[in-house]
Amino acid sequence: MAVIGIDLGTTNSLACVYRDGKAELIENELGSLMTPSCVSVLEDGTILVGAAAKERLISHPDRTAASFKTWMGTEKTYSLGGRSFLPHELSALVLKKLADDARRFLGEEIEEAIISVPAYFNDNQRCATKLAAELAGLPVKRLINEPSAAALCYSHATGREDCRLLLVDFGGGTLDVSVVDCFENIIEIVAVAGDNHLGGNDVDQAIVDYFCRENGIALDSLSPDCRARLFSLAEAAKLHLSQTDMALPMVLREGEQSWGARLDRKTLRTLCDPLFARAGTVIARAVRDSGMSAGELDGVVLVGGSSRMAVFQEYLTELLSGAPSLVGNPDHIVAQGAGLCAGIKQRAEGLRDVVMTDVCPFSLGVASCVDQQDRNPHMVFLIPRSSMLPARRSEVFRTLYEDQKQIRVEVYQGEQYYASDNLRLGEILVQVPPDRAGSQWVEVTFAYDINGILEVTARGSGGDVRRRVIVNPKLDLSEQERERIIASFEELSIESGAHDRDRYLLARAERLFAELTGPARREAAFLIQRYQAIIRSGRQALLARERDEMQERLDRLEAFLQADWMLGGWGPEDEDEDWDEEDDE
Ligand code: ADP
Ligand code: MG
Repeated sequence: MAVIGIDLGTTNSLACVYRDGKAELIENELGSLMTPSCVSVLEDGTILVGAAAKERLISHPDRTAASFKTWMGTEKTYSLGGRSFLPHELSALVLKKLADDARRFLGEEIEEAIISVPAYFNDNQRCATKLAAELAGLPVKRLINEPSAAALCYSHATGREDCRLLLVDFGGGTLDVSVVDCFENIIEIVAVAGDNHLGGNDVDQAIVDYFCRENGIALDSLSPDCRARLFSLAEAAKLHLSQTDMALPMVLREGEQSWGARLDRKTLRTLCDPLFARAGTVIARAVRDSGMSAGELDGVVLVGGSSRMAVFQEYLTELLSGAPSLVGNPDHIVAQGAGLCAGIKQRAEGLRDVVMTDVCPFSLGVASCVDQQDRNPHMVFLIPRSSMLPARRSEVFRTLYEDQKQIRVEVYQGEQYYASDNLRLGEILVQVPPDRAGSQWVEVTFAYDINGILEVTARGSGGDVRRRVIVNPKLDLSEQERERIIASFEELSIESGAHDRDRYLLARAERLFAELTGPARREAAFLIQRYQAIIRSGRQALLARERDEMQERLDRLEAFLQADWMLGGWGPEDEDEDWDEEDDE
């Protein structure tokens, strides 16, 4: 039985195990370490997760979902092929897939998983993550904050035992900044700050907006298909500019029409500056909350795919007057940290027990009125932001008017003075004996545990005691409901095994078909039909042989497509002359 660590990302998810003295990332069925956090439902109801689903974002946008972690803990529903899903349900499918791959890779059952979540995740989002694991049938006792995982990996990899680090995790949909103090076997998060809606996706959006402005087109006027292609074009341009600073011509075609724009690093930097300014504010807040000055920090560790952007590194260097450091691959560091944590959990030899302490990322409190006429209650904070976890505080609230029969304890999270400007987490009603104003009371206790889950207890002066874990009421399922959903999840068929690779190849061919034009598009159609015929024939040996061949031919089409973007429509020089023939149509 194995314990695994999981980085359940907005864009990509990874799993890791600790064995033979190191944190080893787990390969998925397609041989890759990153599984895109995408889900797509096929026409027959079969569910695809990962690379195959990501391919379908373009060809079947209405049946495919991505970036749902951004909405974790909310009631945003995704309707995919007639079935609706909540964000934690889609996450459950991703977790299920990761667990299947891990089982196959390790050849053993999964005893437990440790899932990393952004330090900035609020209570709802954490509960939703645990619920997702439950739906996936994956036992999860502990969530670990992503920066703790990254710091664990950093101190393990560098052997540094005494350092203060600024961790900047710039991912697909979120930015997480933390200040971490490592000393001997203690990893202490001293401050965290973040933005749950700032990431590489926003950079893509900024490039798309720029492209539309340059061409005088409205994004809404493009077909959904064309819009999706524009987004992947923007992302490709962004990735390209992380490698070189050569200006990149972007070309988008639809039918007879074509549009173009040039993107270079300088332009990209200008487009990103408003986003970076938001990142700078978050960084400043984390450093300020840590009580350290920028000069006291021993290093800046970059985490997350977007931190690979050259323009972002350049911005950080200016901001912090010093270059940030890259330890290993910023895409892997969180998963590896979660894997180390799994090793510690299993008491693996060679791993010292590490004490990880966290802080509460938000202030938590109760809405309180000055008197009965007060229509705009203000906050009384029980647990201020950056308190050490676990934290436990109590506060007494008194009745406001004569013969008041109950006291409503409304729980909020946030930093604003007025309660209504913060996030409402829930409420508890407590009965009190009718009496003179102010003579009866409720004692409210907040217990915030190491997983970042809040338990509220309200004790009325008359003996009425109410206790509950505060979660979004929509996620607070009854036992029966929970069982029903778990059972309905077990029935879902998620594609895996060799079929998964076939689905991936076909989905990729379909996406290329949608993106290409002319003879290259016909080539894609030919590949789809031929491959489907082989699958239908049921000849397994032939199919096994054909998989690599199909992969190669798709790689060639992909290269052709890339060249088409970069060079503005020149065909390949050598082979298959007929490709060029109609290329200027
Ligand atoms: P998350 O943790 O949110 O799942 P990741 O850390 O995997 O996200 O980062 C995904 C984001 O990183 C995407 O927006 C992707 O476009 C971006 N990204 C990945 N590689 C690069 C690169 N080389 N240059 C710039 N951005 C990159
Ligand atoms: Mg991440």
